Amino acid sequence: MITSFIIPPSRNKRKFIRLIDCSHETKADYLWQPNDYIIMSSYFKEDDELSLIDGTADELDDKEFYKKINHLNVNIDIIFFSLGSVSYYDDIKYLKKIRDIFQNSTICVLGDIFLEENFRKDIFYLDIDAIIYKPYNLDVEKIANIRKLKKQKKNYHLDFVITDPKEHPFLKDRNKKVSFVKSNLPRHDLFRKNYAWPFLTTKNFTTVTTMWGCTYSCSYCTSGLMHPICKENDDIINELKYIKKLGFKEVQFFDKVFGVPKNIRKDLLKQIIHENINLKYSCYFHPSIFDNEILTLMKDAGFHTIVIGIDSKDLKNLALYNRKVNENVLNELLNFADKIGISVCADFIIGLPHESKEDIYNTINYAKEIKIDFASFNIAAPLPGSTFRENAIRSGKIKSENLSDTLKTSVSISKLSLEELNSIRERANIAFYLRWKIFYRRIKNLKSFEHFFIQIGQFRGMIAKNFFGNFFKKN
Ligand code: SF4
Repeated sequence: MITSFIIPPSRNKRKFIRLIDCSHETKADYLWQPNDYIIMSSYFKEDDELSLIDGTADELDDKEFYKKINHLNVNIDIIFFSLGSVSYYDDIKYLKKIRDIFQNSTICVLGDIFLEENFRKDIFYLDIDAIIYKPYNLDVEKIANIRKLKKQKKNYHLDFVITDPKEHPFLKDRNKKVSFVKSNLPRHDLFRKNYAWPFLTTKNFTTVTTMWGCTYSCSYCTSGLMHPICKENDDIINELKYIKKLGFKEVQFFDKVFGVPKNIRKDLLKQIIHENINLKYSCYFHPSIFDNEILTLMKDAGFHTIVIGIDSKDLKNLALYNRKVNENVLNELLNFADKIGISVCADFIIGLPHESKEDIYNTINYAKEIKIDFASFNIAAPLPGSTFRENAIRSGKIKSENLSDTLKTSVSISKLSLEELNSIRERANIAFYLRWKIFYRRIKNLKSFEHFFIQIGQFRGMIAKNFFGNFFKKN
């Protein structure tokens, strides 16, 4: 079987991320690995021929991109192609050409926009064969056969991919109870490119997912619509050992929330320590999972950084968005992480519909007071599939029948204008990062010269993308 995973180039070499559950432009000088593709690569046999063309990571221009596409076997069995809401109309142009070249191959797409029925319909008009809505339990032989069956006008419908635009299995059945899957080893070696994420201590890294989807349902987040699917501990241990054998030094756990289910993952951490796997790790983590034992085990296993969603100083009002975080637990987590030497990045959301300007500044000031090492300020947006978008449609800010309108995440859903929010966000970054306390914490937690240079690169990228906008125009 011959298969290619394709990510199109991004306009002006920007760093767009295109995944099943989210799509955005990165805020500093990094680009996540294509995590869905990594998981999907585990469903192929050893002698199956896989390739990866990533026009964004390799910063390909159109000529270079199509040169690589034209090198593929014209009878390739499957092409996977990822699109994002941030780049939909550009991505579609590449996809149309690829469909023209590979008339006999099954082409499957994935992307956050397919949470919306209009985009599912749009893609099937282009004679695309299936939409991947989860990267697990893929029978790749059956996927490869879709095109042939379709041409013979035989039944080609499968339940592990979408072939009918009317239905999205996750939206029909919002089941939040975790499912466990057995999994083989992904082809980590295939995904060695210029990928990065800001918290690495070495560039020699790869990505592992212990739980895909999310057990929580925060209404502003599209990942909360995805059914949580967990790997078994033994499979994760085998994967980590394999990664070590391949020579990688660090792992980014790509889970939306690492540590679910808690007791099972505590056993995983004990096994990592017991077997002395000796890799470095960072992950996303939910404050409600915290207890001293799990964080101590994480530290002993090799975790150096966690990313947590604090989202707002006003935790009580986050319940409006189905997000429940206990203030005492959060404070204990921050103090304990500081005590045992785990760095913390906190995500904040500004411009939530209930917030006043004062609320937003309270959040920014709170970010400066607490013991964290990094802060990420995000503007609340009506992402495709989110309840914010549904509300924006109801209030007439977005027209649902218009695809380009759906892609307009640059619509303020706040009492403040988008311009004002962008300006506040820039000031928040300056107020948070340009402080001696932050320089001191970052220097204190440096692990190596390589880590130092990675941090400098990320800081430079963040300055370029976040500081030199409205701030200097206005000052
Ligand atoms: S916990 Fe995080 S990933 Fe999960 S639904 Fe909430 S914001 Fe989304």
